[in-house]
Amino acid sequence: MSDDTIYCYHCQRRHPKEEMRKLETKTGTRWRCIASINAAKQSREAREAYGRQMTEANKAEAQSKARIILHAGR
Ligand SMILES: [Zn+2]
Repeated sequence: MSDDTIYCYHCQRRHPKEEMRKLETKTGTRWRCIASINAAKQSREAREAYGRQMTEANKAEAQSKARIILHAGR
């Protein structure tokens, strides 16, 4: 058995050692591959970017509605 792979708890399979990162958790040391870490990071950033976009869109919509109401009141 080769020692060049480490079990990835995220993918539940082994990856080459150089693709792995050691993570300290409450339950002990775990190994997770860089690819899965990056994928999780990217999807979180994408979600956050989407959330910001929606917030901006909602703000713009609220402002344009507020303007319409102001005009209607005059
Ligand atoms: Zn993995």
